Formats: sequence, C-alpha cells, structure tokens
Amino acid sequence: MKKVYLDYAATTPTDPQVLAAMEPYFFEKFGNASSLHAYGQEAKKALEDSRQALADFINARPEEIVFTSGGTESDNSALLGAAYALEKKGNHIITSAIEHHAIIEPAKFLEKKGFKVTYLPVDKDGLVSPDDLKKALTDKTILVSIMHANNEIGTIQPIAQLAKIAKEKGIYFHTDTVQTVGHIPVDVEQLNVDLLSLSAHKFYGPKGVGALYVRKGTRLETFLRGGDQERGRRASTHNVSGIVGLAKAVELCRKNMEREAKFQSAMRDRLIKEIPARIPEVRLNGHPTQRLPNNVNFSIKYIEGESMLLSLDMLGIACSTGSACTSSSLEPSHVLLAIGLDHATAHGSLRITLGRWTTEADIDYLLEKLPQVAQKLRAMSPLYEKK
Ligand SMILES: *Cc1c(COP(=O)(O)O)cnc(C)c1O
Repeated sequence: MKKVYLDYAATTPTDPQVLAAMEPYFFEKFGNASSLHAYGQEAKKALEDSRQALADFINARPEEIVFTSGGTESDNSALLGAAYALEKKGNHIITSAIEHHAIIEPAKFLEKKGFKVTYLPVDKDGLVSPDDLKKALTDKTILVSIMHANNEIGTIQPIAQLAKIAKEKGIYFHTDTVQTVGHIPVDVEQLNVDLLSLSAHKFYGPKGVGALYVRKGTRLETFLRGGDQERGRRASTHNVSGIVGLAKAVELCRKNMEREAKFQSAMRDRLIKEIPARIPEVRLNGHPTQRLPNNVNFSIKYIEGESMLLSLDMLGIACSTGSACTSSSLEPSHVLLAIGLDHATAHGSLRITLGRWTTEADIDYLLEKLPQVAQKLRAMSPLYEKK
C-alpha cells in the first residue's frame, strides 16, 4: 500500500544524516561530558560545538542555551521558572488561548498556586491583538508567553511587535518556537524575546531533546537540581548523542530551510486552492497567508474528524484532527474553539502538515483520495442528510 505521511507537525522522521552524526556517541564516544578524562573531554567538545551551532542558528550566545528534554520541558521551565523567580515582584502572567498544552497546563497549575493568568483571545484567523496585550498588562505582570506559530492552525504571530510591548515595561517575554525553528527564520534579537523554546524532533532531529534560550541576565528558578550541568540551570548527565543530533538537524535546516519552505508553501497553497474546489462546504482554519509554510487545516462540515482520519489511514495517509471523540473529554481542540468555530465544525477538522520528504505525488494522492473519503462519510452522516 502507498504510504503518505502528512503529519510533520506531530513529529518528523530523524534525518539519516542526523542519525549518522549521532551514532559514534553511543559506543565509541560514550563519555560523560562532565568527566575530566579524555572520554569526557571528547563528549564535552561535541556538546559545546553543538551549543555553538544552535546559538549561531538563532542568533544567541552559547551561554544562553540550556539543553533540555524537549519542547514540553522548555515551556514548563520558562513559565514555572520565571513565575517562581519573580513571585515577589508580581503574580500576573499573560498568555494566549491557543497555546500548546505544554504552556496551558503549567499556567493552570500556577493559577492553583495563587498566580493570576490572562488568556488573551485570538481573532478568527488565530492572531493575538497587540492592543489586547497592552490592555492586559498590569503592574503585577511578570511574564508574557505567546507562541510563534500555532501547531494546529499554523498562524504565525507578530512576536517582535508583541514582545516590544512587554519589554517596554520590563516584563519578560517567552515564545514557543517549536513549530518554527528549522522551518522559518528564528532570531532571538529580531523577535526581541528573553526566553524561547525549541524541540529537535520537530525539525528532523531525534525525540527527547530540545533547548531553552535564556537571555543573559534573565532570572529563572531551577527545577532539575543535582549536578552543575548547564551552569546549574538544569542538572542531569548530558544527552550528548541527542544534542549532537539536534546540532546536525540545525546544520541541515540552515542549508535546506529556504528551499524547503518554498516548495512546501507551493504545495500548501495548492491544497488551499484545490480542496475547496473538490469538496463543497469546507472552511480553511488559520490565517490565509500569515501561516507556516507546511500547514493546512480545514474543517470539512458534517463529518467527524476522527472517522476521516481513520478512513485516510486505511488508504495509507497519515494526518491529524482537532477532534477528540475517543478521548475522555469529547471537547474539540481549544484552538479551534478560540478562533470561533462551533463544536460541530471544530470536530470536522483535518490538519495536513508537510515536510522534507513530502512529494508532489503525495499531494496528488491526497487530492485524489480525500474527496472520495469526504463523500463516503457524508453519505453516512445524519448531519448531512438533514440538509
Ligand atoms: C510538539 C510541541 C511541543 C512539545 O514538544 P515536545 O518536544 O514534544 O515535548 C510544544 N509546543 C509546540 C507548539 C509543539 O508543537
């Protein structure tokens, strides 16, 4: 059977060149980067070269990079770390209604601990309004956290403009760039942020490794205490092979990003044009132009997202949905509700995300199969019948 992977926002394959770069660090060069002997120094050199490569890529300094276990840890560390470091200064945090769970859940936890959290709304395209941010700031605000691009609908926020508003008041600004690093340019100076999260497995690196950028002078409470790795910011023996893999993934993205984004956005725009031409009553979710080059998200009315996903899976096509009927909640994605979709429309959402190995033939195959799946499911849908 043909196999077409169109779920790159969930995770990407590890590039074989990344895997090859990592391989020596399991047996031949297995040393602990904190050891003083030659094995340790060899690992330490690989670690620091990797740190330099990542720092260069996002226009940071090596000492501002903290390696972590991935996006979730970086997001949690930024939010909880800043909250607890600054609790004497204030107890108010601002974020958006469409953040990843790795931000929403620690924010809810902080609410239980006595912090106040404002969840800024977004407009119908998924954009946060700079005016709303201005109005939400109080003299107790200590941190603003707004994601660079949304993982479901692909909308890219005007981070530099939002960060400027916070920074003018001396308030820390964090951004989750897990969906953008390696896909579009990310520059900590241009974005004007203090804290930034990224994760290797979203840009062709291995799973379980990421980083938190911490601007020099930023106060942050530490959670993993133990050894003095990462200048005391994050204890635990370094995941040297993973970090080397992250750096190799960075190197490949640096080389390929522009060309890949160009190809993917052409494929994206083809889907945005052709899906509504082939399937009646669909709605594009997310911003029409200010969106990730590899993201398409449609609500296909009268159909349930999970049945669509399973039908496509039987045809070898892997996508994602914001519907969650099999999960305990039955609630559709908070992101789709935040852009104003009703429950039925949100449940009919389909996310298609492209990447390094997506071909034109993959898109042809999807464009051939998706209308058939939609038609078949609509024929069985009581919602569609009533029309
Ligand atoms: C995937 C993702 C995360 C979580 O990253 P992990 O490395 O899987 O923990 C956080 N934020 C966004 C926007 C993501 O897409």
